[in-house]
Amino acid sequence: MKAVFYDEHGSTDVLQYDEFPDPEIGPEEVLVDIKAGGLNHLDVWTRRGMPSPEELPHIPGSDGAGVVSEVGERVARFEEGDRVVVDPGLYCGECEFCRKGEQSLCVDYKMIGEHVRGVHSEQAAVPEANLIELPEGVDFVTAASAPLVFQTAWRMLMTRAEIQQNDTVLVLGASGGVGHACVQIAANEGCEVWATASSEEKLDHARDCGADHLVNYEEEDFAEVVKAETDGRGVDVVVDHIGEATWDDSLSAAARGGTVVTCGATSGVTPETNIPKVFWKQLDILGSTMGTPGEMDDVMAKVFDGTFEPHVRAVLPMSEMARAHEMLEGREGFGSVVVVPDSEYDPDDYE
Ligand SMILES: [Zn+2]
Repeated sequence: MKAVFYDEHGSTDVLQYDEFPDPEIGPEEVLVDIKAGGLNHLDVWTRRGMPSPEELPHIPGSDGAGVVSEVGERVARFEEGDRVVVDPGLYCGECEFCRKGEQSLCVDYKMIGEHVRGVHSEQAAVPEANLIELPEGVDFVTAASAPLVFQTAWRMLMTRAEIQQNDTVLVLGASGGVGHACVQIAANEGCEVWATASSEEKLDHARDCGADHLVNYEEEDFAEVVKAETDGRGVDVVVDHIGEATWDDSLSAAARGGTVVTCGATSGVTPETNIPKVFWKQLDILGSTMGTPGEMDDVMAKVFDGTFEPHVRAVLPMSEMARAHEMLEGREGFGSVVVVPDSEYDPDDYE
């Protein structure tokens, strides 16, 4: 088969698209003909070697959708020809957290495309437990762009921050994958949503996703804007996946008794924390990672029925993976970048 892979970590120059040995399935695995693969910042980090996959050469890619071409002998839920989407979180199923239904807390939690070979290839061997059925009428590109970011956003807001109707919610970096999912989820729950982004064009997209208030963080201090627009109160929930560059302002923008929830730190991982801000305002600081299979089912059902719309900024052939990575690294545009095997790629399909 053809696959995107690399033999060493580094710049986008290490990305190859060439022949790779066909994957072999185990008894509980399914062979999927990949029709579309979504990119995430995780693909960039992994390519650079932080964190490092367990084995080189490595095939990147956590998100994908396709058609079942073969099933292992113990697979019960799928058969050849089924349309499926990949849920990238791998868990042991046996530790105390898995037994409590908290699979994203698994002591051996891993990601397809990060710790093990991913799905940016013509075929992928995926555990049956990591596939969900893709309904007819939902295209592969839309499906492949959603799982990682939408389950992350869903768990952060619904399970961890427990947003309620009429809550005020600030979403930083609303033009990214997780950000645009958070805006849609909070708006759908009836929250009043502030969104930050770096350009008017990106903010227009955030408005289309349901944001009520827009802040261009290149021109304005978002914490000051939020406080001014809430009569000094601040917001109930701040979603911060930026980290070092925004952390202190996130603590400032949260209301007394408010919540700051984080699922990442793309600008740096060790910001200073003004502790009195945390105790005096009695803030809840929450972490969140990925989601459980049940959360994945819940949020993908709303992607499939059109409640949530993953925004796709570009669809490229897999041979242009370097360009796809550059689009993420350069923070160009709004929404996900999706790749399609060259053998399936017709640019007229993605106007
Ligand atoms: Zn476990």
